[in-house]
This record gives sequence, structure tokens and C-alpha cells, in this order.
Amino acid sequence: MRDPETENTFRFLEEALTLGIQGMEQGEGGPFGAVIVQNGSIIARGWNRVLATHDPTAHAEIVALRHAAEHLGRDRLEDCILYASCEPCPMCMAALYWAQIRKVFFSADRHDAAAAGFADEFLYQELVRPPAERYIPFIHVPLPKSQEPFRRFLTRPMPPLYGPQIPSSSR
Ligand SMILES: [Zn+2]
Repeated sequence: MRDPETENTFRFLEEALTLGIQGMEQGEGGPFGAVIVQNGSIIARGWNRVLATHDPTAHAEIVALRHAAEHLGRDRLEDCILYASCEPCPMCMAALYWAQIRKVFFSADRHDAAAAGFADEFLYQELVRPPAERYIPFIHVPLPKSQEPFRRFLTRPMPPLYGPQIPSSSR
């Protein structure tokens, strides 16, 4: 029996896979693609453009997010779904949280990416290490002025709210 939702999921993932292959074969970057869907229609496409743009953040998901956000004129994409050729890396995962995207479908996973030489799995491991003990040390240097940006932010008349919604259970 035909299931339109499943068929669409396959169709969008296949589009993401095709974009990733095309971008890679054109020398633009790694073999990764993504599409963003709103109300059943693709509103943004992305493929890895790290090499073409000399931008280490130009992953397929980020490229697609930027196009979708520009298209909709807002930074929150809570009514959108992302379909990715491969499980998003930690950078892209965080970006998708910042955008509050509704759901993510992916085809290949982080282990497939690792087998092809991509360090996604390593990055997931780094996330939970203490900052100073990471492969790239992150050194905490508190200064007297450290809190000043937040003090000013919190004393604004109407602080703008943006970013990931934190589930109340983890507050
Ligand atoms: Zn990524």
C-alpha cells in the first residue's frame, strides 16, 4: 500500500543524495546534500561547498539553512523539516537546534561518514570532554568584563529571544 508520507521522505532524501553527489563531482566539496521542506515543498537546497567557497562551515545543512532562512525572512524554522544525505555533524546539529527545525531525516549515518574519512564521530566524542582536555584545547579565561555583555543584554528594555528551546525538564 502506498504511503504518501513515506514516498515523500524517500523522494526528499534521494534529492539530498543527488545534490551531494553532484556537488562533490563538480569539486565543490564533500559528498553531502540537504533539502529543507515546508508544507510538503522544497524551499531550499544545499550541498557541501567547503572547497568552492573556502568556508569550513559551508556544510550542506548550513548552506540549506541559510537559503531557507533568507527565503522565509526569519531565523526560526520550526515549521520546516530537513532531509540530509548523511547524519548531520555536531556543527550542523547545533545549527539545526539554533534554527529550531522541526525534524531531521538522514540517510547515511555518522559511521558511514567515518568509514569515508570524515571526523563526525570524533567530534561527537569531543563534545563531552572537558574544554581544556579537548584535542583543540579550549581555555577558559574569566575577566572582570566577562559578564558585561550579558549584563547589558539582560538590562535591555526588551531582550530579543532566539536560539534553541531548552526542554523544561533539563533546566
Ligand atoms: Zn556538518
